Amino acid sequence: MLKLEDTYLHKGKRKALVSELRIKGIQNEAVLEAINTLPRHFFFDTALISHAYEDKAFPIGEGQTISQPYTVAFQSSLLAVSPGDKILEIGTGSGYQACILHLLGAKVISIEYQKKLFDHTSRFLKRLGIQLQLFYGDGTGGVPTLAPYDKIIVTAGAPVVPDALIQQLKIGGILVIPVGDRTKQAMVKITKKSATEILREEFEGFAFVPLLGKDGWNA
Ligand code: SAH
Repeated sequence: MLKLEDTYLHKGKRKALVSELRIKGIQNEAVLEAINTLPRHFFFDTALISHAYEDKAFPIGEGQTISQPYTVAFQSSLLAVSPGDKILEIGTGSGYQACILHLLGAKVISIEYQKKLFDHTSRFLKRLGIQLQLFYGDGTGGVPTLAPYDKIIVTAGAPVVPDALIQQLKIGGILVIPVGDRTKQAMVKITKKSATEILREEFEGFAFVPLLGKDGWNA
C-alpha cells in the first residue's frame, strides 16, 4: 500500500478519532473538521502507520514526536484561528500541526531547530503540495523578519515564556505555549492586550518534548 494513499479504513479511523476528541471536550467545529480532513498517517513512518489514529504522540525521528491529536486540537482551539491569520509556529516537527493551521485558513510560518527534520518535512510538504514558509533555526527568538504575527504557537515545552515571542505579537494577538519542567507543562495562553499589558491563562496537564535553544532547555 502506498504511504500517501487515503483509504476508507483511514477515513473511518479519522472519524472515530474526531468523536473521541469531542468526548474529551474539544468543541471547535473548524478544528475538528480539519482533523477529519487531514490524513495523519501521511506524517508517520511506514512502520507506525497503523497507530496514526490513536490519540497519542508518536516518534518522528531525531528524538522528536508528532503531538497527540488532543493536544493539537486543544492548542488550535486556544489560538481561535480566523482565515487569513498570520501564524508563527515554533517546532515544525512532522508538519502536522502546521498543516492543520493551514487548513483553518491561516498563513503559516514555521521554524524547526533540527536540520534533518527541517529538510525532511520541507521535502514532504512540497510533495503534498502544501505551501508554508519554513525556516531552520532556533525559534525561541521568533522570526523577527516576518513579525508581527496574529498568533504564535509553540509545540515544545518551554522553561519560560520567551520575551521575543510576546514582542512579535500584534496587539490583540494570542500566544499559546506549554511552560513547565522538562517532562510536564501547563498550556499557557497569553493575549497581548496592549504594548505593555498581557492576559495570562493556564491549563494543566500536558507533556511535550523540550524546547531547546537560547530561551529553552540545554540540549
Ligand atoms: N508541531 C510538531 C510537533 C513536533 S515536536 C508536529 O506537529 O509534528 C516539537 C518540535 O520542536 C521538534 O521537532 C523539535 O526539534 C522542535 N524544537 C525544539 N526546540 C526548538 C527551537 N528552539 N526552535 C524551533 N524548533 C524547536
